[in-house]
Amino acid sequence: MEIVCLDLEGVLVPEIWINFAKKTGIKALEATTRDIPDYDVLMRQRLDILREHKLGLPDIQAVIADMGPLPGAAEFVAWVREHFQLIILSDTFYEFADPLMKQLGRPTIFCHKLETDSQGMITNYILRQPDQKREAVKALHGLKYRVIAAGDSYNDTAMLGEAEKGILFDAPENVIREFPQFPVTKTYEELKAQIRSGSLRQIP
Ligand SMILES: [Mg+2]
Repeated sequence: MEIVCLDLEGVLVPEIWINFAKKTGIKALEATTRDIPDYDVLMRQRLDILREHKLGLPDIQAVIADMGPLPGAAEFVAWVREHFQLIILSDTFYEFADPLMKQLGRPTIFCHKLETDSQGMITNYILRQPDQKREAVKALHGLKYRVIAAGDSYNDTAMLGEAEKGILFDAPENVIREFPQFPVTKTYEELKAQIRSGSLRQIP
């Protein structure tokens, strides 16, 4: 029995924070873990900026809904679900992912969570579990599933390593160079071919 696990941002939808910064024109939100390596400091800064701009969760969700999935992503997800059970493993938050998951036909997603106050302002974030992508694949193994996984970045490599088949999709050069053990794909057609080859079944 096989399950496909996919990363969300950079694989099926755009990078949420980067695109949110672009769409709102809030320059300070363009900072990533490359600029501020401490994730907690980065997240506190992001939440402060949102509060300064009086952006509550409904405003943020409207901007995110407008981003839409990547071109071809909805069709690709439909293909995966025709042949496999699918779980999205993401380090985003349910509240941010929600408008995009709706547009992808609501596949199962495991991610993190935000807290809001009565005004809809985000007050805190809760990481469900450390190293959750790898832990999810391990748990699926405990349930006797084979896992085929794909992702685009450093936070996916533990998941890809844990899976029976790990695939890079549209990954940056440094990730490709540092993890030569994973096949590299650029398009959904190439990713489908790698998923087929990782399966023990004949997938059309
Ligand atoms: Mg990603």
